[in-house]
Amino acid sequence: MTKWAVVKFLEFVDQKRGGVLVASEVIRDTNGAFEAARRVYYIVNNTGDAIKRGGHYHPHGGKQEIWLVPVGRVTTNLHSAKECQEVVLDSRDRALFIPGDVWHDARLDPGTVLICIASTNYNPAESISSLPSCACKKL
Ligand SMILES: [Zn+2]
Repeated sequence: MTKWAVVKFLEFVDQKRGGVLVASEVIRDTNGAFEAARRVYYIVNNTGDAIKRGGHYHPHGGKQEIWLVPVGRVTTNLHSAKECQEVVLDSRDRALFIPGDVWHDARLDPGTVLICIASTNYNPAESISSLPSCACKKL
């Protein structure tokens, strides 16, 4: 799996105690495409307006990401040399795998929480704003 992919996570509803537990073995659930989990961070949109984050890509062989949106909605634009697509994440049991060489941004609706599982530690040099080429030619 070298292309991005929306991955379904398992939900466990606890009828007795209440609540829903959502779980994934992310390396297994991406068929081994996601190589490691080294860093976890999240962005909370605590404003009353939509916010935009990201707008970069990570070169192949570097950082990979898995995005989870347990609350709210994220609209992301994905661009690669082969394909470009808008993906909406608005369900707690769906996650987005973003491999290297895929430009991505994120629009978070008010109240949204975006959790990111990254395969590498933070390195600002790994985030490059301009993609050399994308299929739709909009970047
Ligand atoms: Zn594009």
